Amino acid sequence: MSGFTVRPVPVEVPGLTHLHTGKVRDLYATASGDLVMVASDRVSAYDWVLPTEIPDKGRLLTALSLWWFDRLADIAPAHVLSDTPPPGAPEDWRGRTLVCRRLDMVPVECVARGYLAGSGLAEYQADGTVCGVALPDGLQDGSRLEEPIFTPATKAEVGEHDENVSFERVAAVHGAALAEELRTATLALYRRGRELAEERGILLADTKFEFGRDADGTLVLADEVFTPDSSRFWPADGWEPGRPQPSFDKQVLRDWLTSPASGWDRASEEPPPPLPQDVVDRTRDRYLEVYERLTGSPAPVG
Ligand code: ATP
Ligand code: MG
Repeated sequence: MSGFTVRPVPVEVPGLTHLHTGKVRDLYATASGDLVMVASDRVSAYDWVLPTEIPDKGRLLTALSLWWFDRLADIAPAHVLSDTPPPGAPEDWRGRTLVCRRLDMVPVECVARGYLAGSGLAEYQADGTVCGVALPDGLQDGSRLEEPIFTPATKAEVGEHDENVSFERVAAVHGAALAEELRTATLALYRRGRELAEERGILLADTKFEFGRDADGTLVLADEVFTPDSSRFWPADGWEPGRPQPSFDKQVLRDWLTSPASGWDRASEEPPPPLPQDVVDRTRDRYLEVYERLTGSPAPVG
């Protein structure tokens, strides 16, 4: 079992139509057909959206996405129109709302990997490839890949795992031209992000992009970008291939959830328990630190 421990209730805002409640974001449509994405403070671990929120997380990730969109615009235009919440929105939406062009989304999770971890590691250990890309022998948990690789996945519902697929599969379903376009954009964006993050002592092990088409057919970068929710961030000074790397943002809560203190059995069907205040505080500090290290600016939170 997995999914939401507490089902989020959409907010009623005059003029907005609720479209979707994701693990983290709530989506609405404006009367003119634009998309309103509101990043909540929800946090997930082990396929569960936890019952406790991390205050300001949605604001930090929204600000971080905006910072990155600016630095990637020459590679792919972003879907953002404005960061001003629509009239009548709750005060709490300020800083966590992006009004975006509503795109025809490409139903492929465009993953780039520069290090071996997660499902990439599992596939490599099983047969030496990731999404059909053959890798050299002898790589370990956390190894850096000589060249970043494009490892697409199909999108799953809340609580389900995305499924890794080969480039050929994407080409067969969506056409070779689009598959090429996705791979080229994904790898170019990832290279830019990895380089920038590395200068700031953060390894961007892997990341996921989502793209959509606008009315003219242009491929546009959608969703969020290079946030800890869409990426694996590792502190560079703690990197040591051959064991799982500590994660910048979620290590504190993962460690607590799997410790005897939580009383939770990950293998059980039971939802995880609420987080204690010190775990919340320390997790929030990690999100603040990621933001401040990457951008070099104080986090935009009260
Ligand atoms: P998760 O990302 O945690 O797997 P999720 O994708 O279901 O969960 P969120 O990330 O919380 O949920 O919600 C964002 C949703 O908005 C995604 O379904 C994404 O594909 C969609 N989306 C993002 N940008 C656009 C856009 N410009 N036009 C249309 N849909 C978009
Ligand atoms: Mg998402």
